[in-house]
Amino acid sequence: MSAVLAESAAPVHYVPARLPATTVPVAAGDGIGPEIMEATLAILRAADPALSFHHVTVGLKAYESGLMAGIGEDTWKAIEAHRVLLKGPITTPQGGGYKSVNVTLRKTLGLYANLRPCVSYHPYVRALHPRMDVVIVRENEEDTYAGIEHRQSDEVVQCLKLITRPGCERIVRYAFEYARAHGRKKVTCMTKDNIMKLTDGLFHRVFDEIAPQYPEIEANHMIIDIGTARIASRPTDFDVVVTPNLYGDILSDVAAEVAGSIGLAGSSNIGHGCAMFEAVHGSAPDIAGRDIANPSGLLLSAVMMLVHLGRAKPATDIHNAWLCTLEDGVHTADIFREGSSTRKVGTRDFARAVIERLGRRPAKMAAVAYPEREPDSLVHPDVSLPPRTPAQKALVGVDVFLNWDSPTRDPNELGAALEALAGEEFRLALITNRGVKVYPDGNPQTLRTDHWRCRFPARGERVDGQAISRLLLRIAEAGFEAVKTENLYTFDGVRGYSQAQGE
Ligand code: NAD
Repeated sequence: MSAVLAESAAPVHYVPARLPATTVPVAAGDGIGPEIMEATLAILRAADPALSFHHVTVGLKAYESGLMAGIGEDTWKAIEAHRVLLKGPITTPQGGGYKSVNVTLRKTLGLYANLRPCVSYHPYVRALHPRMDVVIVRENEEDTYAGIEHRQSDEVVQCLKLITRPGCERIVRYAFEYARAHGRKKVTCMTKDNIMKLTDGLFHRVFDEIAPQYPEIEANHMIIDIGTARIASRPTDFDVVVTPNLYGDILSDVAAEVAGSIGLAGSSNIGHGCAMFEAVHGSAPDIAGRDIANPSGLLLSAVMMLVHLGRAKPATDIHNAWLCTLEDGVHTADIFREGSSTRKVGTRDFARAVIERLGRRPAKMAAVAYPEREPDSLVHPDVSLPPRTPAQKALVGVDVFLNWDSPTRDPNELGAALEALAGEEFRLALITNRGVKVYPDGNPQTLRTDHWRCRFPARGERVDGQAISRLLLRIAEAGFEAVKTENLYTFDGVRGYSQAQGE
């Protein structure tokens, strides 16, 4: 910490809150991380002197010491003791073996909710949409980010998209609880359930089940593609948006960007009894070490952390002082505009400017006032829906995926061979390639790879696992290579698998 910044004093008339002492583990991170963390901690010290900081090792230093996950043992211990982490951005080294620190932290700590408020600060920061104020609530653990990928043949790789009912229930409930606690009026769910009827369909269905429990909050659903377009063109139509992981990742960057600058966006990652706070932007190696980075994203993340810790007064004071700094035109280079800005400052001077304004409220932009709350009192989403009776499950067939190649890749040749192997318990219903039906009666124009999905429904009402094993044995003995299987089930008589294109 630079001595000059550490000694920056709050104005004499500012009386910081008297709060219980508490310790926050902080990981400065890489690139611009140490500079923006120094600036943020200086502001936190001035507004909340009872806070102390425990510096832990995350990022390049940890990787260099041989920890492939990029996280030091001291970090895990500190998080276990204090249940919170304020984190700077991390550079993930390129190349095999290194794990993303962010993904590891989210998964290990069960940080299921990622919250990204996207607000415009017009006219002080140029924004495509001057009155934008949207909070994106992104599911943080599931979806394609479960990280289950396989190469199955020379030509085909796959990534498993996992969506679970408990995962949907807690993120959707979190979004509604957040909306209720923050006086938000509307929650919009965005999915692609017109295409992914089972996975995204479950997310949408759970949203429809939970929404009526919050009658004061308007609830609606949009398909993610038009929803993203509308966030970019008419963001004032939205208030809180809840989405599965991948869509939320993309949507929140779009939203932060049209709000003015991704450099201003903070975020929280919330789990049960544990939370991590970080800026949305990365480690910006191109400007590292030059005292020009904007610390606002990390500072607003720290404000979210104070609210989470039940320290409403310093959170309110810092946020309002920061708004005053923007209003006064004291801007870092990324948001500086000739004409509207008054002073171009570096990272440290920006922090000093915020500290000098502690105790002031913005004159033109709306001041914030965080309500006093118990620490971490917002949501306990495991208090969930009434208990459900598990559905009656019946095994009714199997999809066998083959890695099969021949000079012609003729699906009729494969179909004829597999018809003969189906036996008395199964029939071959169809073969698809990349999800498109190629047998029987396929279109010769369909692009055919070396990866074939062969659907074998049971001839009877249901079948058992041993029959599937016998089928797989016949297929192997005939010289075919099954690279994976998916059992076909019905649940209470409803098909639990998708139909193929053209089925
Ligand atoms: P980036 O966000 O670091 O930078 C994108 C652009 O925005 C750059 O021009 C940068 O100078 C600018 N910028 C970012 N933050 C700024 C700030 N606070 N003030 C002023 N300008 C700012 O994205 P990138 O270049 O794609 O990624 C760089 C590294 O960061 C990569 O190693 C990436 O993996 C990592 N990353 C980490 C996190 C995280 O730790 N949460 C998030 C995203 C990227």
